[in-house]
Amino acid sequence: MKDERSEAKKGDEEKKMTIPDVTPPPNFIREIIEKDLKENKNQGRVHTRFPPEPNGYLHIGHAKSICLNFGLAAEYRGLCNLRFDDTNPIKEEVEYVKSIKEDIRWLGFDWEDREFYASDYFEQLYEYAIQLIKAGKAYVCDLSADEIREYRGTLTEPGKNSPYRDRPVEENLDLFERMKAGEFPDGSRVLRAKIDMAHGNVNMRDPVMYRILKASHHRTGDKWCIYATYDWAHGQSDSIEGITHSICTLEFEDHRPLYDWFIDQLGIFHSQQIEFARLNLSFTIMSKRRLLQLVEEGIVTGWDDPRMPTISGLRRRGYTPESIRNFCERIGVAKRESTVDIALLEHCLREDLNKKAQRMMVVLRPLRLVIDNYPDDNVEELEAENNPEDPGMGSRKIPFSRVLYVEREDFREDPPKKWFRLAPGREVRLKHAYYVKCVDVVKDDQTGEVVELHCTYDPKTRGGWSDDGRMVKGTLHWVSAPQSLEAEVRLYDHLFTKPDPGEVEEGEDFKTYLNPKSLELLTSCRAEPNLKGAKPGNRYQFLRQGYFCVDPDSSPGSLVFNRTTSLRDTWARIEKSLKKT
Ligand code: ATP
Ligand code: MG
Repeated sequence: MKDERSEAKKGDEEKKMTIPDVTPPPNFIREIIEKDLKENKNQGRVHTRFPPEPNGYLHIGHAKSICLNFGLAAEYRGLCNLRFDDTNPIKEEVEYVKSIKEDIRWLGFDWEDREFYASDYFEQLYEYAIQLIKAGKAYVCDLSADEIREYRGTLTEPGKNSPYRDRPVEENLDLFERMKAGEFPDGSRVLRAKIDMAHGNVNMRDPVMYRILKASHHRTGDKWCIYATYDWAHGQSDSIEGITHSICTLEFEDHRPLYDWFIDQLGIFHSQQIEFARLNLSFTIMSKRRLLQLVEEGIVTGWDDPRMPTISGLRRRGYTPESIRNFCERIGVAKRESTVDIALLEHCLREDLNKKAQRMMVVLRPLRLVIDNYPDDNVEELEAENNPEDPGMGSRKIPFSRVLYVEREDFREDPPKKWFRLAPGREVRLKHAYYVKCVDVVKDDQTGEVVELHCTYDPKTRGGWSDDGRMVKGTLHWVSAPQSLEAEVRLYDHLFTKPDPGEVEEGEDFKTYLNPKSLELLTSCRAEPNLKGAKPGNRYQFLRQGYFCVDPDSSPGSLVFNRTTSLRDTWARIEKSLKKT
């Protein structure tokens, strides 16, 4: 009797996943855009931008911003620019520019010919600064950085005017030009906006617009030795590009009045800034500074270490762009900070891979199994479906012979109750093959370790089904020893043991919470021969073990796989308990 369903219910863990009903929460940014469109604001244009600073690799938080900006533009038949916010020459590198572009493309988005750099606007920003100086709205200040901080006051106390605040316009123009000409040492002078040192919003207390920094820039070389601050560059860059909706994270909410002030003083195109809560993920740090530290200190192998939350790390781990885009859509956008359970990201991944990944059999921790009643030199070709979710993916042949490997943990000499796998005298199904029964166990004389199992097989159960109605509860994966390929498999766990590793006490090091077991290396796995020629980036489901992806370290002669994720979906359970409360 071939009862597919009862077999799936019992031993086979390769279950169909339940897809929780997660309707994306309403997106308040869409509402703003729709209102603007209705009022024909900006002649009905929707133009967004993604503005990374090229000082690190993109991570899953950036993916949220990318999906939002490019996604909204596509949805409203608008445009989305890629703009590098490259105002800080010290921390920025061409390597980062390259990786950022690669990652956005991989996620499935296209900025066409709209690749811009804040550094393209250095000349224009300089002209704007002159305009403000002439209007008496900006001045050169000789206070040191520490003094400026002291004079700024606090959230509860007003600041003090700089003694240089009332410099005549001519003197300001002269000094600013000489700053640009490189006449003064780094840090000796700055250009500041002249707003209000007693303003309730600290950002409005004469913020710095330019600092002197004799550093080479990756694009402008040594042309400039004064560099615009982020606050001075960002809003004007948006304006120059005609950005209609400038979407950014909440920490810039308090900067919006300043950006509006600059735009109003200059009388230029007004982009509307809209803030949303950044993505925080459990067990994940999102700070570029800390991620850089992990890379520089060799705690991970690089920005693309499969344990990193970077796009390149997720890609190497085996994530699909679709699963990340789907995740970003599901989490929606909000005005309040919260932390998303990493189980949701993994759920979106499994949902996608379940549909796409070809099934294969690989034994991670091999134990030899000899079938005593199987003809010595015989090799059979058995049929195996490639994906039960998608019959269109067809089937493949797998060899079966007298000597096999099974998973070491699928055998117990003294099995506990409800053990449906191998044990002395127990019969199990070998997936796509036969029923086998364990008749003997060979142990190492010295250590007592089990080194080999002896079984008999039932030739009448070919394909894994019995004609006499005899049921077995366990179904195991296996490979035929002589044809199997050796493989290295890397298993991963969260990089941190703390659910909120970004939140550490004052004076505490976030690295205290690194998970010492985040990587487990298995070097003598055995893979079915169909994996010969598997190429870096190929994704599979290894039966009962999870989803795997071929690592770039892999070569035809020595296969290396990363476990992308296990099969067990914890999100469905979380979702259920959330619904109960
Ligand atoms: P920093 O500016 O401190 O170097 P950053 O993470 O803000 O780090 P940017 O390169 O400035 O890095 O980010 C580019 C864009 O991505 C910004 O618009 C920013 O708001 C957005 N972004 C960054 N982190 C997140 C996050 N966790 N969730 C959502 N958006 C994010
Ligand atoms: Mg930033």
